[in-house]
Amino acid sequence: MSGQTPGEGRYRSFTADWRAAEAKPRYLHAVHTQQRRLKAGQAPWSVRRRGPLEVEPLKRNLRTEVLVVGAGISGALVAEALSDAALEVVVVDRRAPVHGSTPASTCLMQSDLDTPLTELGARVGVARAARIWSRTRLALDALEQRCEALGLDAELAVRDSLYLAGNVLDADGLEREAKARRRAGIEVDLLGRAELKHRYRLHRSAALVSHHQLSADPVRLTHGLLAAAQARGARIFSPVELSSIAPHRAGVTALTRAGPRISARHLVYATGYELPRGVPAAKHSIASTWAVATRPQPRALWPTQALIWEAADPYLYCRTTPDGRIICGGLDEAFSDEAARDALLEKKTAQLERALARLWPECDPRAAFAWTGSFGTSTTGTPSIGRVPRLPNCYAVLGYGGNGITFSMLAAQLLRGLILGDGDADAALFAFGA
Ligand SMILES: Cc1cc2nc3c(=O)[nH]c(=O)nc-3n(C[C@H](O)[C@H](O)[C@H](O)COP(=O)(O)OP(=O)(O)OC[C@H]3O[C@@H](n4cnc5c(N)ncnc54)[C@H](O)[C@@H]3O)c2cc1C
Repeated sequence: MSGQTPGEGRYRSFTADWRAAEAKPRYLHAVHTQQRRLKAGQAPWSVRRRGPLEVEPLKRNLRTEVLVVGAGISGALVAEALSDAALEVVVVDRRAPVHGSTPASTCLMQSDLDTPLTELGARVGVARAARIWSRTRLALDALEQRCEALGLDAELAVRDSLYLAGNVLDADGLEREAKARRRAGIEVDLLGRAELKHRYRLHRSAALVSHHQLSADPVRLTHGLLAAAQARGARIFSPVELSSIAPHRAGVTALTRAGPRISARHLVYATGYELPRGVPAAKHSIASTWAVATRPQPRALWPTQALIWEAADPYLYCRTTPDGRIICGGLDEAFSDEAARDALLEKKTAQLERALARLWPECDPRAAFAWTGSFGTSTTGTPSIGRVPRLPNCYAVLGYGGNGITFSMLAAQLLRGLILGDGDADAALFAFGA
């Protein structure tokens, strides 16, 4: 053994190359990250206890191996994975950490994609679709294992997930979907009307049950992951906004709006629904979504407190919290205009209350919390993760869709492989342009 700490050798050679590049930094590429009002209203998470985080102001130039832009769940998972691989990590955010989309999340963490396997197979090929679904399942398992290994206090709960027949897949469609999943090695149960009523007291023609899905408090989850990265030496700087970057052979030099520069061997954009210029996003778009959380329910919640969502468009989804609230969201609209989105909060809240009362007549559906947010979608329901074309040493995470958090975990796994030079057998499935 040389006595070097892991990553030290890599860092030294990077430093020598970087000095040469630093002599003449050319900020060829303005970042111009979109500015959005990402959310409005009040979710239940933000009023709860959080873990301690040490956040620094950026006062002078800095060097690091990896610069992660964005301190939401994506940046936190990437920072945790890379610091665990003994890389030196700096996280910056123009907001305070965990003040973007993440605190608006309802945090159902599922391995079942928004796009049914049968539909994805028809669009991208059966083998490819099966591998995308399988890899998403592995990411969810890995997320649970990381939370357990780190001992995170994030209200993590293991739940079944019920996918109810709707206008996207009826009972026959769900039967075909169950067969396709089993052929791909993904276990699922198909319930008919009588069994669904008997086991879950829900009235629909059919449902699929996926086992071992997760729910959590997204704010505590993200704080816990950032704190774990910090404990290994990762540093968080806020408020720090990137204004332009100069990718070069040895790495990337980033200019912040306030002046100081950050030089890194690798840069990861984990900026959520505020995309930096230059990151291809043709298959992605921004929509609007709404959610409510009830008071703790006076009567029993549905058996097993399964996550519930519909094979429908627009769809509805529900989960419970450890203190007995029901969270219900959906009724998405394709537009991204924030003023129009916020103006609909009252109307959508009433619609969600009515839909919840229809689904589960035994509950008190009145909203104690109601909120709305921007929501990223993709044409295939799959994310884009990997190297940014034409920006050397830059990577991006576009975990758009209802599996946003599971995709962020997938991103942490893929980017660790790419940045360490180990590669990833599935990188091409999720690459930009795939
Ligand atoms: C109402 C709602 C419900 C949802 N429910 C679920 C769900 O049940 N399950 C699920 O998996 N997903 C869900 N999602 C999606 C999920 O919340 C997102 O996928 C996830 O929060 C995105 O996290 P992020 O870290 O990528 O983005 P963010 O949390 O938005 O973090 C990105 C950060 O980047 C920073 N940033 C941007 N540009 C710059 C710059 N130039 N310089 C510095 N910093 C910058 C921003 O300030 C921001 O803090 C939901 C979303 C909403 C709105």
